Amino acid sequence: MRLSTINQPPVSTSVWQQELQHAINNPDHLLHLLELPPTHFSPAAHRQFKLRVPHSYLKKIAKRTPEDPLLLQILPVAEELCLDPTFNSDPTGDQIAEKIPGLLQKYAHRALLLVSKTCPLHCRYCFRRHLSFPPPTLPDTLQWLNKQDSLHEVILSGGDPLTLSDDKLTAWITALAGLPDLRRLRIHTRFPSTIPSRITPKLLQGLTQTHLQPILVLHINHPQEINEEVHNALEQLYHAGILLLNQAVLLKGINDNLDILTQLSETLIHHKIFPYYLHQLDQVQGATHFQVTVSQRQLLTEQLRTHLPGYLMPQIVEEVAGSPYKKPLL
Ligand SMILES: *Cc1c(COP(=O)(O)O)cnc(C)c1O
Ligand code: SF4
Repeated sequence: MRLSTINQPPVSTSVWQQELQHAINNPDHLLHLLELPPTHFSPAAHRQFKLRVPHSYLKKIAKRTPEDPLLLQILPVAEELCLDPTFNSDPTGDQIAEKIPGLLQKYAHRALLLVSKTCPLHCRYCFRRHLSFPPPTLPDTLQWLNKQDSLHEVILSGGDPLTLSDDKLTAWITALAGLPDLRRLRIHTRFPSTIPSRITPKLLQGLTQTHLQPILVLHINHPQEINEEVHNALEQLYHAGILLLNQAVLLKGINDNLDILTQLSETLIHHKIFPYYLHQLDQVQGATHFQVTVSQRQLLTEQLRTHLPGYLMPQIVEEVAGSPYKKPLL
């Protein structure tokens, strides 16, 4: 071996990768930092689905505030152990939609790839919290996609696709750009609002360097999730020419409130993000305490419409397993 190779320093990990590595996964530590009593979480819920919260998200949680809307999204609590027969481990029918390892198809002209199992933080209401799919391989995926007629859009999802390194992500995008009918590349990610340092010039280049129209669908549930750092990351995405949409989940005690939902849409558009979907909670085991009743949802929706222009009104949808589209709700 040549000396120059031996002496090479270890591959440097970027800022965002370090942040992901150092995300808090110890509830005692989290509660200590937030100056809350250590009894405030459930060890059993944590064992079922581990706490994960990166420091840049933690900064946005108020101290000594058990009802903080950002804390409620990530803290393992005893209510998660509540069993309800209408809540199951695969509420959106992902397993029956898997065509080849790591590829789901439910809807016409779109296919969804579960390219990563990792997320920047763990949302307690996650509809995939009980599922684990094998990662798709590039050659097998391309072979399958190539056989599909008029596939217009590939969605990279997971987990969070932005946990992949820039090189891996770029390899996927470059390969997908060779598919004859493909027009758009969509990425479902929670990174910009949780680890904003993920938005690097190299990532932006990878997302925009092919003919595919890049669309980022963010996941922001509450206006308090957007601070200065997140704002800067969003600006970069916008200036790179990436269309920004947001999907939120209607969550009891977090955003089931007219003022908060109005502010959310207003804050999003201020950052040039269009509200896309407001999901009715997927009935996943462990999330019963986040459920908003149908009558409350209908009242909220009705009120929200009287406060917002049409383009700031998210589509209220429910994902019904086996349905050919996400079902619009009132
Ligand atoms: C939610 C989902 C999509 C995206 O649906 P849109 O209505 O296009 O946003 C695509 N594929 C799968 C498998 C999904 O679960
Ligand atoms: S970011 Fe999405 S996939 Fe990841 S834990 Fe949250 S809801 Fe689940």
